[in-house]
Amino acid sequence: MSVGEPIAAQARPGRGVRIEARELTRRFGSHVALDGVSLTVEPGEAFGLLGANGAGKTTFIRLVAGLLIPSEGHLEVDGISPATSPARVQARIGFVMETSRLYPEQRVRGFLRFIAGARGLSRPEAVRAVEATIERFRLAPVATRLIGNLSKGFQQRVSLAHAFLHDPPLLIVDEPTGGLDPVQQREVQEILRSLRGQRTLILCTHDLNEARKLASRVAVLREGRLIADGLTQDVLGEGAVLELFRGPDEHRV
Ligand code: ATP
Repeated sequence: MSVGEPIAAQARPGRGVRIEARELTRRFGSHVALDGVSLTVEPGEAFGLLGANGAGKTTFIRLVAGLLIPSEGHLEVDGISPATSPARVQARIGFVMETSRLYPEQRVRGFLRFIAGARGLSRPEAVRAVEATIERFRLAPVATRLIGNLSKGFQQRVSLAHAFLHDPPLLIVDEPTGGLDPVQQREVQEILRSLRGQRTLILCTHDLNEARKLASRVAVLREGRLIADGLTQDVLGEGAVLELFRGPDEHRV
């Protein structure tokens, strides 16, 4: 599958989790980071969450992962509340971690086996999962190399493999191609595209072209409020884009 292919107009039905947020609000002191957000992500959907710095994207995904408790509102992941049952929800999630949090002194295969063991896979299961993941993320040429010596593009693939190891139905990816060169960006985007439809994908990004390539649906947050939610080609069509990202000061002019 190539990155240049047009995106499907509708999310294909498939595996994955359903996320439902209703009037979801999170405050930090008097600051409202997320303000009455209502949205639904369907199983198998590739969902892009867009917004400028500080718009509330990370707050939303931390609420989904049960790492934060909502101040108000309702949130369910496959009918489960992340606030009251975080472990059950987290078992369904693969988080792509920042490459800076990978273990540079470990070798790729050894690191993935360690993670598989930590997630409770038996040794034969771990070996099978690690080898399948190495193949899926095209890590075979570097499987015995130290993570710290890899290029940033390969480190990002290790990070994706780490998130994917237990085959979670929900993959959350925050700025997956930040800091990568164009070839590495394309490789990571191709891997993410190949996963579409098989599980739910939440992609947080500032990069509108990346959202166009990878997401079938996008929502835009501004200062904690949901200001757009729809099919990617409708929300990110000509002309609409700058308006969506304009800050409050620019509206006053
Ligand atoms: P970025 O693209 O820069 O990562 P974001 O869209 O992910 O931004 P959030 O990290 O969700 O934005 O932050 C939303 C707002 O909430 C910001 O104003 C941020 O400063 C504030 N915020 C987030 N976490 C905390 C916290 N733990 N304590 C206080 N304020 C916070």
